[in-house]
Amino acid sequence: MMKIPHRLYLTEDQMPSQWYNLRADMPEQPDPMLNPGTGKPVTEEDLYPIFCKELAHQEMDSTTRWVDIPEGILEEYRIYRPSPLIRAYNLEQALDTPAKIYYKYEGNNTSGSHKLNSAIAQAYYAKHQGLKGVTTETGAGQWGTALSEACAFYGLDLQVYMVKCSYEQKPFRKAVMGVFDANVTPSPSPTTEVGRKILAEFPESTGSLGCAISEAVEKAVTSENYRYVLGSVLNQVLLHQSIIGLEAKTAMDILGEYPDLVIGCAGGGSNLGGLIAPYMRDKLTGKSNPRIIAVEPASCPSFTRGKYAYDFCDTGKVTPLAKMYTLGNGFMPAANHAGGLRYHGMSPLLSKLYHDGYMEAVSAKQLEVFEAATLFAKKETILPAPESAHAICQVMKEAAKCRESGEAKTILFGLTGTGYFDMTAYDAFKSGTMSNHVPTDEELETGFASLPKLG
Ligand SMILES: *Cc1c(COP(=O)(O)O)cnc(C)c1O
Repeated sequence: MMKIPHRLYLTEDQMPSQWYNLRADMPEQPDPMLNPGTGKPVTEEDLYPIFCKELAHQEMDSTTRWVDIPEGILEEYRIYRPSPLIRAYNLEQALDTPAKIYYKYEGNNTSGSHKLNSAIAQAYYAKHQGLKGVTTETGAGQWGTALSEACAFYGLDLQVYMVKCSYEQKPFRKAVMGVFDANVTPSPSPTTEVGRKILAEFPESTGSLGCAISEAVEKAVTSENYRYVLGSVLNQVLLHQSIIGLEAKTAMDILGEYPDLVIGCAGGGSNLGGLIAPYMRDKLTGKSNPRIIAVEPASCPSFTRGKYAYDFCDTGKVTPLAKMYTLGNGFMPAANHAGGLRYHGMSPLLSKLYHDGYMEAVSAKQLEVFEAATLFAKKETILPAPESAHAICQVMKEAAKCRESGEAKTILFGLTGTGYFDMTAYDAFKSGTMSNHVPTDEELETGFASLPKLG
């Protein structure tokens, strides 16, 4: 038997040249996006003022199974892909588990996360359409960083609305985006109508992703030759991220391994949707039946405590309505939550799969997440992003179950990025000032009260 190496790098020509569209194999489609004014399903043409054409097409295309990746995108991917598949031998040993733990590492590029996979694609299509620039929001800053790199590469202007508390807590993120000439505005801001409205009502607001999205969309539709781009949640983003899962599966196949469990953190669902894509395909087509687990923060529990309902994707209620697991567009995660993944909703595609019983979801508390993150850092020498550490936390729980049962399960998880810009959070954890926050049912009710009433 082949001795399994610590790291497996595919060669360049083993990198996929097509993305995989999971919707093509779903027995039932996610419910359509609705126009909030008319209550009617949104068409591809309706999206043209917001998204560039090719991306609007990808958003609505639920039948094309394999989508060619343009050469102009592959060229960029080759700078940092294929990304490695790593066997966590040291972690396994530390956990004294018979489980075999593999992770697909996406922190191996300058932006430090998987978000570059979709940023490159979206910037490429915008440039291809002859646009002048794009607008977006960023929470923790990874998406803004990835997109600013991609926009600088393709020569596009970029306007970023950054959630105000992150803008203040992570000045270096803003500085990195500045290196790539992005314009960064803390949100809520006085530069948009929706921002001014939120500031008038809540002058002390530290912002939320939903609020930054409203500002970025408004800016795009009121500026000539600009469109809006989003780093998660959307079908198009899950499509681009399928490269993670396709590469992981190719590498696992080479090793003769097949996961019993596939685990990923879930904010808006893009890395998870990408990682699980080929395995979910096997599951949907009856070829195999791996367990698939989404891990979310207990302080922002869309899957595990949210409602499956139509909701706005933003706080300002300017986006179409999507049917998804949501805490309500008015939900604000607690300020002491440092671990990212603070979006109120969840990918409609994953929401549908979860609703139909094809995957599971669990939540993890902040302190156990950082506990897992620091043990992982010591054993595997990579400082994980707090977001990624949610997955690590669940992997450790599953590995402990294997230790008790003696079962040597094969676990694959997504290590989505590095945490070098999250040192304030790591510091708070090490100095004991970090705390858990789990919202009460009453707190969640305030969020649910913001759900739109349909019909
Ligand atoms: C943005 C981000 C996430 C969460 O986003 P998803 O769309 O749910 O993947 C997870 N990890 C890292 C490192 C991120 O930057």
